[in-house]
Amino acid sequence: MSRNRFKALLIEREDGIVRARLRKLVDADLPAGEVLVAVRYSSLNYKDGMAITGKGRIVASYPHVPGVDFSGCVLASENAEFKPGDEVVLTGWGVGERHWGGLAQRARVQAEWLVPLPRGLDLRKAMTIGSAGLTAMLCVMALEEAGVLPDSGTVVVTGAAGGVGSMAVALLAQLGYRVAAVTGRNSSHAFLRQLGAAEFLGREEMSRPPRKLESRRWAGCVDVVGGVMLARILAEMNYGGTVAATGLAGDDSLSTSMMPFILRNVCLRGVESVTPPRALRERAWRRLAELLPEQAYQAIGQEIPLAEVAAAAERIMRGEIRGRVLVDLEK
Ligand code: NDP
Repeated sequence: MSRNRFKALLIEREDGIVRARLRKLVDADLPAGEVLVAVRYSSLNYKDGMAITGKGRIVASYPHVPGVDFSGCVLASENAEFKPGDEVVLTGWGVGERHWGGLAQRARVQAEWLVPLPRGLDLRKAMTIGSAGLTAMLCVMALEEAGVLPDSGTVVVTGAAGGVGSMAVALLAQLGYRVAAVTGRNSSHAFLRQLGAAEFLGREEMSRPPRKLESRRWAGCVDVVGGVMLARILAEMNYGGTVAATGLAGDDSLSTSMMPFILRNVCLRGVESVTPPRALRERAWRRLAELLPEQAYQAIGQEIPLAEVAAAAERIMRGEIRGRVLVDLEK
């Protein structure tokens, strides 16, 4: 390939139909930005699934390169903070949504969106973590801030076999929490046990509409599903428990009662990972680098080439992806 021709997954909209195809682009096709990065790995997140399959209103305009996160090496920089050769990671900031993203061999972005590759990680590990892992870490930190500690009781994780869920299970178990995993797939139990889950609950049982208050079961929760499952978990929280809610893989609505809040002091805490302040983002990355054991990366990450991303996007929308899908931009 000539020096500045590179492969990209380009989403185009024709006659109202969204199609994702592999294309060859040149640097001049990239949007304006301060830092040009040779992308080494990207990953597949739920939002990427929405963008690539044309579901939801994720993409601001077409043509578009999806990919909400990437890791790679700086090729050129107009910002003194980064120089060619620096290894960097990007998650969030609307990249892959409003700005062209990481599912291409090159990306041009603003310097403030990048973080230097955290010590203790390599480019592959950073993308095994990716947006999903950062979000899981921010949820765990939200529980800690709320006083939910390992001896508080069991923490329940919904959508446990998915990207955010599996990372949350691994992080919580590593910190010494007892973790209950809600999954719709019995075939994922062995995987989740390997990450440290101690108890399993079925999606169906946790999707039954709750009474206003149910028996107390949980000290904390990381929820990526929303809807009735979130309402059930709120009704099952211990006194003073906290739910860190960050996803809507099941439903973006929530119908609940005031009872868990006013009778059990329950806290529903939203967690957003797209634009957290840089200091918080860097703290979360440092903790991720310290906490995750080698075995977690091996169990959670699976690699695919760019050519397989469109098919994998259909699978993530059907809830069929287990753990994290890494996209190797050199294949
Ligand atoms: P994944 O598809 O990897 O995981 C979602 C999991 O949820 C699935 O694996 C499945 O787990 C479960 N699930 C899927 N559909 C349903 C359903 N209808 N009812 C109940 N459970 C279901 O996605 P991600 O982990 O990447 O993202 C999960 C959610 O978190 C998404 O809504 C995403 O937008 C959100 N998110 C939010 C961020 C933020 O900043 N707020 C950042 C990153 C993600 P199982 O098979 O175990 O049941």
